[in-house]
Amino acid sequence: MIIHTEATVLQIRPWSQTSHMVTWLTPDYGRIVTAVKGACRPKSAFLGQYDLFYTCDLLFYRRERDGIHAIRECSPSTLREPLRRCWRSAAAAAYLSDLTARVTASHQESAAVYHLLNRTLDALPRAPRRDLKELVLRYEVNLLAKLGLKPNLALCPHCHTPDRQWLRFSLPSGRFACPHLAGAASGERTVALHRDIRQIFLNMLDRLPDTADGGILPCAETDKNRPPPNLLLGLSRFLGMFITFHLEVPPAVRRVAFELLDKNPTRETVSLETSSP
Ligand SMILES: [Zn+2]
Repeated sequence: MIIHTEATVLQIRPWSQTSHMVTWLTPDYGRIVTAVKGACRPKSAFLGQYDLFYTCDLLFYRRERDGIHAIRECSPSTLREPLRRCWRSAAAAAYLSDLTARVTASHQESAAVYHLLNRTLDALPRAPRRDLKELVLRYEVNLLAKLGLKPNLALCPHCHTPDRQWLRFSLPSGRFACPHLAGAASGERTVALHRDIRQIFLNMLDRLPDTADGGILPCAETDKNRPPPNLLLGLSRFLGMFITFHLEVPPAVRRVAFELLDKNPTRETVSLETSSP
């Protein structure tokens, strides 16, 4: 069966000397993998037709058996060229694409995640450097929600009274630990979460980057609305633990991505130059 769909490139892997395996996210078929034979040959019809983070018009032969489909035609509709000029935005985009490839399923309607990813990829190169991490965290928050894995951040009037700033969150049950409940599991893995971090999480839900107005982030329009860095760090740690626990993705990929977003290449270049003999 031939299928025509729009699709965004998540990953490209070499396959033999001249071919590629391309992983795509589609709105109606979820994550799919296509083989592109002879992709690197000089006369390949696919040269320049797809690259990382492109959204394309895709025609492929659907195969039910081994899960790898044969590509028939492909032409780019959104190239996201600015991502190729800013390595920091590209690092963020690579992390989000990798995470999405790991947690989405094949042949499953994924329109909500597809649009979330495209809007975030559009917004990344337009965001000021200091807002990149917030954009990544916002993607993670909304990805969890679209996958049906949103943590339950409801408060209990008995255990989480307003005088308590730090709350214990249970990772296995995905909600705040509630000692007043009979049968509350003792010894289950919990993390401390500040009330303000909980609020930032809730503020980020359903607030996606708006591409219509040039990708301006709803929360970052003014410094006053920008979450303080220490709370964003707290949210990042919480999300890191939650995502590792519930989505079973290796934590190293995320850690490296956030380290790259923090890097200051200018300073490192200077220190390298001064240390040379
Ligand atoms: Zn309670």
